[in-house]
Amino acid sequence: LAQVPSDINIAMAQTPKRIVDLAVEIGLRPDELESYGKYKAKVELSVLDRLSHRKDGKYVIVSGITPTPLGEGKSTTTIGLAQAIGRTLPSQGPTFGIKGGAAGGGYSQVIPMDEFNLHLTGDIHAVTAANNLLAAALDARMFHEATTPNKALYSRLVPVKKGVRKFAPLMLQRLKKLGIDKTNPDDLTPEEANRFSRLDVDPETITWNRVIDVNDRHLRKITIGQNDTEQGHTRTTGFDISVASECMAVLALSKDLADMRERLGNMVVASSKSGDAITADDVGVGGALTVLMKDAIKPNLMQTLEGTPVFVHAGPFANIAHGNSSILADRVALKLAGTEEGDGPERQGFVLTEGGFGADMGLEKFSNIKCRVSGLVPDAAVIVATTRALKMHGGGPEVVPGKPLHATYLSEDLVTLKEGCKNLRRHVSNARKFGLKVVVAINRFLSDTEAELELIRSQALEAGADAAVVSSHWAEGGAGAKDLAQAVISICEGPSDFKFLYDLDRSIEDKINTIATAIYGADGIELSDLARKQVETYTKQGFAHLPICVAKTQYSFSHNASLKGAPSGFTIPIRSVRMYAGAGFLVPICGDMQTMPGLGTRPGFWEVGLDEEGRVEGLF
Ligand code: ADP
Repeated sequence: LAQVPSDINIAMAQTPKRIVDLAVEIGLRPDELESYGKYKAKVELSVLDRLSHRKDGKYVIVSGITPTPLGEGKSTTTIGLAQAIGRTLPSQGPTFGIKGGAAGGGYSQVIPMDEFNLHLTGDIHAVTAANNLLAAALDARMFHEATTPNKALYSRLVPVKKGVRKFAPLMLQRLKKLGIDKTNPDDLTPEEANRFSRLDVDPETITWNRVIDVNDRHLRKITIGQNDTEQGHTRTTGFDISVASECMAVLALSKDLADMRERLGNMVVASSKSGDAITADDVGVGGALTVLMKDAIKPNLMQTLEGTPVFVHAGPFANIAHGNSSILADRVALKLAGTEEGDGPERQGFVLTEGGFGADMGLEKFSNIKCRVSGLVPDAAVIVATTRALKMHGGGPEVVPGKPLHATYLSEDLVTLKEGCKNLRRHVSNARKFGLKVVVAINRFLSDTEAELELIRSQALEAGADAAVVSSHWAEGGAGAKDLAQAVISICEGPSDFKFLYDLDRSIEDKINTIATAIYGADGIELSDLARKQVETYTKQGFAHLPICVAKTQYSFSHNASLKGAPSGFTIPIRSVRMYAGAGFLVPICGDMQTMPGLGTRPGFWEVGLDEEGRVEGLF
């Protein structure tokens, strides 16, 4: 393994193909493409209809061992593996690496790296706009309800226009929900008009924050409404990072435009004083949110360093959401990689999709949430591991920023490594619980020794992996992941035994308990009084059937980030439970979850700028 230049130098040295050329290569038609510059394009969803007769390509989820600050290289491995499959099946069906998140590293990256990392095609901006329109609409509505007498409120909400008074379509939906069977605004009794006009939001129950795509710690808690024009109607609220918006989770889980419309309208922002859930559609804004996000729903096509197609689409915050890229990107990719009647086996294409954080989070949520919504069936799971991360799980010392790495991580240490393999072993046996075939990808670092790599391999196989393969895609690109690709390709032959871990009709508590005991290795769960009350409320409101999306630290199987390896003998405390009725999951919160990151004393922006030729430098 040779020394490798920096990520940015490797990325800059490669000129990408024009995206229109790549699109033709993978069988897209020019009218199915919306170019954003030379190297990025959105793909029209109509391609799904055109290719509906095709049998989907093979579907592989890439996840990893429990993350450590040393990095496991899930994205790098997903991209490297995609490049390798692209090489292994040269003239055949298209191959895709798909992800939302980081751009990989070494000779396994998505390019152009600066465009990937910056605005891309504006999807996050669309999510931000939609999220904040809903926030503004809710606060304005509360203000008007508080400052307007009953009769005036109704006539302003349903004004006379060109001589007639007419309900907006969403108002008819609200009337139905309220059980008022009338369509003529003049027929409502004063009591009905009142009930209709007043959402009667209980301010204590508002769950909808504003969002912004900047790590701005001072916006975590703010007071709004301080100008005189708001007449003293101030309220404490906060900002989250844009990707933590429920609108992003909705984008990632929507099956088509109509489904996205329904989910956006169903997002619950608060309860009324009488305890009913208040949705975006009750506020009247579901249609407008859909308009703001109508282009964001189209997957973005980019490429790897070796010209393998990549869809980069949606990135729901893994801390509180499911941390997987979009269902639509996967569906489009699976059709493009699919086969038609008369195609030989050599036309078989592959789709790789990445589950964020460790497999206890990314793979579990991929299986129980994403696949349940999409109906797609994965053929295999890849679990990425590195010697250094496993050594940390085996008791290796913490990394101190600015200090050189401890010798354990740079030279052979089979004892610590073997202890750390307990973490990998639990992830492998967990993946088996979903009926998945498992390939362990050992992402090779330059300092790894043969004996160490062999130890991980044998431990993985002993734990039940179908294959465990050393891969040097970071240093060598697709060529370095040839064996890994072969293993994945051959394991995907034959049918999949994929199954969910729990049925939706079980109680909320039972579902959380199943994940905690079967996947985390906990003895059980313990709900706080608040969480118990929330579970009762959601059950009463009719949301008990939703799947579970646990928010916990990614650094441990447990809720305690310092418990590395494969801990046991712990009980998971559930402090509260949030409901994402539009995205369609319930989020038990197991600790302090930060939804707005902050900038440190020495942020990365100090390095960022344009060089003399106008190229971005200092991004990584
Ligand atoms: P993850 O997706 O697990 O968060 P990434 O794929 O983004 O991890 O990789 C994190 C960092 O580690 C990147 O900067 C990448 O260049 C680096 N990295 C990944 N694999 C290797 C490797 N085999 N050798 C050296 N550095 C690597």
